[in-house]
Amino acid sequence: MQETQGDGHAARRRRLAALVADAGAGAVLVTRLVNVRYLTGLDSSNAALLVPADGPAVLATDGRYAGMAAEVCPEMETLVERRAAEALTTRAAASGHRVLGFEAHDLTVERHAALAEAADIPLRPLGHLVEDLRRVKDEEEIGLLREACAITDRAFEAVLPEIRAGVTERAVAIALERAMVDFGAEGPAFDSIVASGPNGAVPHHHPGGRELQRGDLVTLDFGARYGGYHADMTRTVAIGEPAGWQRDLYALVLRAQLASIAAARPGAETRDVDAAARGPITDAGHGDAFTHGLGHGVGLEIHEAPLMGYDRTGKLMDRVPITAEPGVYLAGRGGVRIEDTLVVRPGGPELLTTTTKDLLVL
Ligand code: ZN
Ligand code: ZN
Repeated sequence: MQETQGDGHAARRRRLAALVADAGAGAVLVTRLVNVRYLTGLDSSNAALLVPADGPAVLATDGRYAGMAAEVCPEMETLVERRAAEALTTRAAASGHRVLGFEAHDLTVERHAALAEAADIPLRPLGHLVEDLRRVKDEEEIGLLREACAITDRAFEAVLPEIRAGVTERAVAIALERAMVDFGAEGPAFDSIVASGPNGAVPHHHPGGRELQRGDLVTLDFGARYGGYHADMTRTVAIGEPAGWQRDLYALVLRAQLASIAAARPGAETRDVDAAARGPITDAGHGDAFTHGLGHGVGLEIHEAPLMGYDRTGKLMDRVPITAEPGVYLAGRGGVRIEDTLVVRPGGPELLTTTTKDLLVL
Protein backbone atom coordinates (compact mmCIF):
# COMPACT_ATOMS: atom_id res chain seq x y z
CA MET A 1 0.00 0.00 0.00
CA GLN A 2 1.33 3.44 -0.91
CA GLU A 3 0.53 6.34 1.36
CA THR A 4 -0.05 9.63 -0.42
CA GLN A 5 2.37 12.45 0.10
CA GLY A 6 1.31 14.60 3.01
CA ASP A 7 3.05 17.16 5.14
CA GLY A 8 4.38 14.24 7.11
CA HIS A 9 7.07 13.21 4.65
CA ALA A 10 8.21 16.77 3.97
CA ALA A 11 8.42 17.44 7.71
CA ARG A 12 10.51 14.28 8.16
CA ARG A 13 12.92 15.45 5.44
CA ARG A 14 13.20 18.86 7.12
CA ARG A 15 14.14 17.20 10.42
CA LEU A 16 16.76 15.09 8.63
CA ALA A 17 18.18 18.16 6.84
CA ALA A 18 18.72 19.83 10.22
CA LEU A 19 20.67 16.79 11.45
CA VAL A 20 22.76 16.80 8.27
CA ALA A 21 23.62 20.46 8.86
CA ASP A 22 24.52 19.70 12.50
CA ALA A 23 26.84 16.94 11.30
CA GLY A 24 28.67 19.38 9.04
CA ALA A 25 27.86 17.52 5.81
CA GLY A 26 26.46 19.17 2.68
CA ALA A 27 23.96 16.38 2.08
CA VAL A 28 23.16 12.80 3.02
CA LEU A 29 22.59 9.94 0.62
CA VAL A 30 19.83 7.68 2.00
CA THR A 31 20.07 4.18 0.54
CA ARG A 32 18.22 2.02 3.10
CA LEU A 33 14.92 1.40 1.35
CA VAL A 34 12.81 1.52 4.50
CA ASN A 35 14.35 4.94 5.24
CA VAL A 36 13.61 6.14 1.70
CA ARG A 37 10.03 5.03 2.26
CA TYR A 38 9.86 6.86 5.60
CA LEU A 39 11.07 10.09 3.98
CA THR A 40 9.08 9.96 0.73
CA GLY A 41 6.27 7.39 0.97
CA LEU A 42 7.78 5.39 -1.90
CA ASP A 43 7.85 1.64 -1.18
CA SER A 44 10.25 0.09 -3.70
CA SER A 45 13.08 -2.39 -4.13
CA ASN A 46 15.37 0.17 -5.79
CA ALA A 47 15.56 3.82 -4.79
CA ALA A 48 17.81 6.33 -3.08
CA LEU A 49 17.28 9.83 -1.76
CA LEU A 50 19.59 12.81 -1.58
CA VAL A 51 18.72 15.17 1.27
CA PRO A 52 20.84 18.35 1.37
CA ALA A 53 21.32 20.35 4.56
CA ASP A 54 19.75 23.19 2.62
CA GLY A 55 17.47 22.95 -0.42
CA PRO A 56 15.11 20.41 -1.97
CA ALA A 57 15.64 16.64 -1.78
CA VAL A 58 16.12 14.56 -4.95
CA LEU A 59 14.77 11.04 -5.35
CA ALA A 60 16.16 8.42 -7.74
CA THR A 61 14.49 5.16 -8.71
CA ASP A 62 14.23 2.94 -11.76
CA GLY A 63 11.53 2.85 -14.44
CA ARG A 64 9.41 0.28 -12.60
CA TYR A 65 8.70 2.76 -9.80
CA ALA A 66 8.71 6.07 -11.72
CA GLY A 67 4.93 6.20 -11.95
CA MET A 68 4.50 5.36 -8.29
CA ALA A 69 7.03 8.04 -7.33
CA ALA A 70 5.13 10.64 -9.37
CA GLU A 71 1.99 9.64 -7.51
CA VAL A 72 3.28 9.60 -3.92
CA CYS A 73 5.75 12.50 -4.07
CA PRO A 74 4.77 14.58 -7.12
CA GLU A 75 6.53 17.72 -5.92
CA MET A 76 9.92 16.05 -5.65
CA GLU A 77 12.48 15.98 -8.44
CA THR A 78 12.94 12.32 -9.43
CA LEU A 79 15.79 10.87 -11.48
CA VAL A 80 14.82 7.69 -13.31
CA GLU A 81 18.04 5.69 -13.06
CA ARG A 82 18.70 2.03 -12.42
CA ARG A 83 21.88 2.96 -10.50
CA ALA A 84 20.02 5.30 -8.18
CA ALA A 85 22.74 5.86 -5.57
CA GLU A 86 25.45 6.51 -8.15
CA ALA A 87 23.24 9.03 -9.98
CA LEU A 88 22.62 10.94 -6.74
CA THR A 89 26.30 10.87 -5.78
CA THR A 90 27.11 12.45 -9.13
CA ARG A 91 24.37 15.01 -8.50
CA ALA A 92 25.76 15.82 -5.03
CA ALA A 93 29.23 16.42 -6.46
CA ALA A 94 27.81 18.60 -9.25
CA SER A 95 25.87 20.64 -6.65
CA GLY A 96 29.18 21.56 -5.03
CA HIS A 97 28.63 19.84 -1.65
CA ARG A 98 31.98 19.40 0.04
CA VAL A 99 31.04 16.24 1.98
CA LEU A 100 28.38 13.62 1.27
CA GLY A 101 27.11 11.64 4.23
CA PHE A 102 26.00 8.05 3.75
CA GLU A 103 24.45 5.13 5.67
CA ALA A 104 27.40 2.89 6.49
CA HIS A 105 25.09 0.28 8.07
CA ASP A 106 23.41 -0.20 4.70
CA LEU A 107 26.05 0.19 1.98
CA THR A 108 28.13 -2.87 1.24
CA VAL A 109 31.85 -2.40 0.72
CA GLU A 110 31.26 -3.09 -2.97
CA ARG A 111 28.55 -0.42 -3.35
CA HIS A 112 30.63 2.07 -1.38
CA ALA A 113 33.50 1.54 -3.84
CA ALA A 114 31.12 2.13 -6.75
CA LEU A 115 29.96 5.43 -5.21
CA ALA A 116 33.53 6.56 -4.56
CA GLU A 117 34.22 5.89 -8.22
CA ALA A 118 31.04 7.60 -9.47
CA ALA A 119 32.06 11.10 -8.40
CA ASP A 120 34.83 13.08 -6.78
CA ILE A 121 33.24 13.91 -3.43
CA PRO A 122 34.36 12.81 0.06
CA LEU A 123 31.97 10.24 1.58
CA ARG A 124 31.44 10.24 5.32
CA PRO A 125 29.36 7.79 7.41
CA LEU A 126 26.73 9.76 9.35
CA GLY A 127 25.42 7.03 11.63
CA HIS A 128 21.78 5.97 12.02
CA LEU A 129 20.30 9.43 11.48
CA VAL A 130 17.04 8.30 9.89
CA GLU A 131 16.54 5.39 12.30
CA ASP A 132 16.97 7.85 15.17
CA LEU A 133 14.29 10.09 13.67
CA ARG A 134 11.99 7.11 13.14
CA ARG A 135 12.06 6.25 16.84
CA VAL A 136 9.50 8.98 17.70
CA LYS A 137 6.37 8.55 15.56
CA ASP A 138 4.01 11.22 14.30
CA GLU A 139 0.28 10.80 14.86
CA GLU A 140 -0.21 9.60 11.26
CA GLU A 141 2.18 6.72 11.92
CA ILE A 142 0.58 5.95 15.28
CA GLY A 143 -2.80 5.85 13.51
CA LEU A 144 -1.50 3.17 11.12
CA LEU A 145 -0.02 1.18 14.01
CA ARG A 146 -3.29 1.46 15.92
CA GLU A 147 -5.16 -0.03 12.96
CA ALA A 148 -2.54 -2.80 12.55
CA CYS A 149 -3.03 -3.67 16.22
CA ALA A 150 -6.85 -3.52 15.98
CA ILE A 151 -6.71 -6.02 13.10
CA THR A 152 -4.47 -8.24 15.23
CA ASP A 153 -6.96 -8.16 18.12
CA ARG A 154 -9.86 -8.94 15.80
CA ALA A 155 -8.02 -11.86 14.21
CA PHE A 156 -7.29 -13.40 17.61
CA GLU A 157 -10.91 -13.17 18.64
CA ALA A 158 -12.07 -14.69 15.34
CA VAL A 159 -9.64 -17.62 15.54
CA LEU A 160 -10.23 -18.46 19.24
CA PRO A 161 -12.81 -21.22 18.46
CA GLU A 162 -10.19 -22.94 16.26
CA ILE A 163 -7.60 -23.09 19.06
CA ARG A 164 -8.45 -26.47 20.58
CA ALA A 165 -7.10 -29.96 21.16
CA GLY A 166 -6.35 -31.88 17.95
CA VAL A 167 -5.55 -28.86 15.78
CA THR A 168 -1.93 -28.46 14.67
CA GLU A 169 0.21 -25.45 15.50
CA ARG A 170 0.58 -24.81 11.80
CA ALA A 171 -3.18 -24.77 11.21
CA VAL A 172 -3.62 -22.20 13.98
CA ALA A 173 -0.83 -20.02 12.53
CA ILE A 174 -2.41 -20.12 9.07
CA ALA A 175 -5.87 -19.35 10.49
CA LEU A 176 -4.46 -16.28 12.29
CA GLU A 177 -2.69 -15.03 9.17
CA ARG A 178 -5.75 -15.58 7.02
CA ALA A 179 -7.99 -13.76 9.50
CA MET A 180 -5.62 -10.79 9.59
CA VAL A 181 -5.73 -10.49 5.81
CA ASP A 182 -9.53 -10.88 5.86
CA PHE A 183 -9.70 -7.97 8.33
CA GLY A 184 -7.63 -5.70 6.07
CA ALA A 185 -3.97 -6.49 6.77
CA GLU A 186 -1.47 -6.34 3.89
CA GLY A 187 -0.07 -9.53 5.38
CA PRO A 188 1.44 -10.83 8.60
CA ALA A 189 4.02 -8.49 10.15
CA PHE A 190 6.35 -11.49 10.66
CA ASP A 191 6.20 -15.29 10.64
CA SER A 192 3.57 -16.17 13.23
CA ILE A 193 4.65 -18.24 16.22
CA VAL A 194 2.36 -20.91 17.64
CA ALA A 195 4.19 -22.93 20.30
CA SER A 196 2.28 -25.62 22.18
CA GLY A 197 3.14 -27.65 25.26
CA PRO A 198 6.91 -28.26 25.52
CA ASN A 199 7.47 -26.22 22.33
CA GLY A 200 6.46 -23.17 24.37
CA ALA A 201 9.91 -23.34 25.97
CA VAL A 202 11.39 -22.19 22.63
CA PRO A 203 10.78 -18.42 22.32
CA HIS A 204 10.86 -18.40 18.50
CA HIS A 205 9.48 -21.86 17.81
CA HIS A 206 8.38 -22.44 14.19
CA PRO A 207 4.83 -23.78 14.20
CA GLY A 208 4.82 -27.38 13.07
CA GLY A 209 2.68 -30.49 12.93
CA ARG A 210 2.27 -30.96 16.68
CA GLU A 211 -1.40 -31.17 17.65
CA LEU A 212 -2.55 -29.09 20.61
CA GLN A 213 -3.37 -31.28 23.61
CA ARG A 214 -5.32 -30.88 26.81
CA GLY A 215 -2.92 -29.69 29.47
CA ASP A 216 -0.90 -27.53 27.05
CA LEU A 217 -0.10 -23.90 27.41
CA VAL A 218 -0.02 -22.44 23.89
CA THR A 219 1.91 -19.28 23.07
CA LEU A 220 0.66 -17.31 20.04
CA ASP A 221 2.89 -14.47 18.83
CA PHE A 222 1.67 -12.70 15.71
CA GLY A 223 0.70 -9.35 14.24
CA ALA A 224 -0.71 -7.59 11.21
CA ARG A 225 1.05 -5.24 8.80
CA TYR A 226 -1.05 -2.26 7.76
CA GLY A 227 0.08 0.77 5.74
CA GLY A 228 3.62 -0.57 6.16
CA TYR A 229 3.36 -0.58 9.98
CA HIS A 230 3.88 -3.68 12.11
CA ALA A 231 1.77 -4.87 15.03
CA ASP A 232 3.14 -7.38 17.53
CA MET A 233 1.14 -9.25 20.17
CA THR A 234 1.60 -12.45 22.17
CA ARG A 235 -0.99 -14.29 24.20
CA THR A 236 -0.58 -17.58 26.04
CA VAL A 237 -3.72 -19.69 26.45
CA ALA A 238 -4.47 -23.00 28.19
CA ILE A 239 -6.04 -26.00 26.47
CA GLY A 240 -8.24 -27.50 29.16
CA GLU A 241 -7.98 -26.74 32.86
CA PRO A 242 -4.40 -25.61 33.62
CA ALA A 243 -2.24 -27.18 36.32
CA GLY A 244 -1.25 -25.16 39.36
CA TRP A 245 2.26 -24.49 38.09
CA GLN A 246 0.83 -23.21 34.81
CA ARG A 247 -1.50 -20.78 36.55
CA ASP A 248 1.33 -19.59 38.80
CA LEU A 249 3.69 -19.07 35.88
CA TYR A 250 1.04 -17.17 33.97
CA ALA A 251 0.28 -14.92 36.93
CA LEU A 252 3.99 -14.22 37.41
CA VAL A 253 4.58 -13.23 33.76
CA LEU A 254 1.45 -11.09 33.73
CA ARG A 255 2.54 -9.28 36.89
CA ALA A 256 5.96 -8.66 35.30
CA GLN A 257 4.41 -7.40 32.07
CA LEU A 258 2.03 -5.01 33.85
CA ALA A 259 4.93 -3.64 35.92
CA SER A 260 6.94 -2.91 32.77
CA ILE A 261 3.99 -1.19 31.12
CA ALA A 262 3.53 1.00 34.19
CA ALA A 263 7.23 1.92 34.02
CA ALA A 264 7.11 2.93 30.34
CA ARG A 265 6.97 6.70 30.83
CA PRO A 266 8.66 9.53 28.92
CA GLY A 267 12.13 9.98 30.37
CA ALA A 268 12.35 6.40 31.71
CA GLU A 269 15.61 4.55 31.00
CA THR A 270 14.88 1.55 28.76
CA ARG A 271 17.05 -0.50 31.12
CA ASP A 272 14.77 0.38 34.04
CA VAL A 273 11.63 -0.55 32.12
CA ASP A 274 13.21 -3.93 31.37
CA ALA A 275 14.18 -4.26 35.04
CA ALA A 276 10.57 -3.62 36.12
CA ALA A 277 9.61 -6.90 34.43
CA ARG A 278 12.82 -8.78 35.17
CA GLY A 279 12.67 -8.05 38.91
CA PRO A 280 9.61 -10.11 39.84
CA ILE A 281 10.67 -12.95 37.52
CA THR A 282 14.13 -13.07 39.09
CA ASP A 283 12.63 -12.90 42.61
CA ALA A 284 10.49 -15.93 41.74
CA GLY A 285 13.64 -17.86 40.81
CA HIS A 286 13.10 -17.77 37.04
CA GLY A 287 15.59 -15.02 36.11
CA ASP A 288 17.62 -17.43 33.96
CA ALA A 289 14.47 -18.50 32.11
CA PHE A 290 13.69 -14.95 30.85
CA THR A 291 16.23 -15.25 28.08
CA HIS A 292 15.62 -12.11 26.01
CA GLY A 293 15.15 -8.37 26.35
CA LEU A 294 11.82 -6.87 27.36
CA GLY A 295 10.89 -5.67 23.89
CA HIS A 296 11.60 -3.45 20.93
CA GLY A 297 10.37 -0.49 18.94
CA VAL A 298 7.87 -1.16 16.13
CA GLY A 299 7.06 0.86 13.04
CA LEU A 300 7.99 0.40 9.41
CA GLU A 301 10.04 -2.56 10.69
CA ILE A 302 8.98 -5.20 13.18
CA HIS A 303 12.17 -4.71 15.20
CA GLU A 304 13.48 -1.17 15.37
CA ALA A 305 14.92 1.30 17.84
CA PRO A 306 14.71 1.38 20.79
CA LEU A 307 15.71 -2.14 21.81
CA MET A 308 14.43 -2.69 25.34
CA GLY A 309 17.05 -5.01 26.78
CA TYR A 310 18.69 -5.06 30.19
CA ASP A 311 22.03 -4.15 28.59
CA ARG A 312 20.69 -1.34 26.40
CA THR A 313 20.62 2.26 27.46
CA GLY A 314 18.56 5.19 26.29
CA LYS A 315 15.49 7.07 27.40
CA LEU A 316 11.91 6.64 26.29
CA MET A 317 10.07 9.63 24.88
CA ASP A 318 6.52 10.67 24.13
CA ARG A 319 5.16 8.92 20.98
CA VAL A 320 7.65 6.04 20.96
CA PRO A 321 5.84 2.74 20.25
CA ILE A 322 7.40 -0.30 21.91
CA THR A 323 6.51 -3.83 22.85
CA ALA A 324 6.55 -5.23 26.38
CA GLU A 325 7.00 -9.00 26.16
CA PRO A 326 8.46 -10.76 29.16
CA GLY A 327 8.52 -14.56 29.01
CA VAL A 328 9.58 -17.53 31.10
CA TYR A 329 10.69 -20.68 29.26
CA LEU A 330 11.01 -23.98 31.12
CA ALA A 331 12.78 -26.64 29.06
CA GLY A 332 10.68 -29.78 28.56
CA ARG A 333 7.60 -28.24 30.19
CA GLY A 334 6.57 -25.14 28.31
CA GLY A 335 6.51 -21.41 28.60
CA VAL A 336 4.50 -18.25 28.99
CA ARG A 337 4.98 -14.99 27.12
CA ILE A 338 2.61 -12.03 27.16
CA GLU A 339 3.20 -9.13 24.77
CA ASP A 340 1.50 -5.88 23.92
CA THR A 341 2.33 -3.06 21.54
CA LEU A 342 1.98 0.28 23.29
CA VAL A 343 2.83 3.95 22.75
CA VAL A 344 4.67 5.94 25.40
CA ARG A 345 2.56 8.96 26.37
CA PRO A 346 2.97 11.63 29.07
CA GLY A 347 -0.23 10.57 30.85
CA GLY A 348 0.69 6.86 30.79
CA PRO A 349 1.11 4.38 27.96
CA GLU A 350 -1.56 3.94 25.26
CA LEU A 351 -2.07 0.21 24.75
CA LEU A 352 -2.60 -0.51 21.05
CA THR A 353 -3.23 -4.25 21.45
CA THR A 354 -6.19 -4.65 23.75
CA THR A 355 -6.99 -8.39 23.78
CA THR A 356 -7.73 -9.61 27.30
CA LYS A 357 -4.84 -10.84 29.41
CA ASP A 358 -6.99 -13.03 31.66
CA LEU A 359 -5.75 -16.59 31.23
CA LEU A 360 -8.08 -18.03 28.60
CA VAL A 361 -8.96 -21.70 29.16
CA LEU A 362 -10.04 -23.15 25.82
ZN1 ZN B 1 5.90 -10.78 19.18
ZN1 ZN C 1 8.00 -8.53 19.77
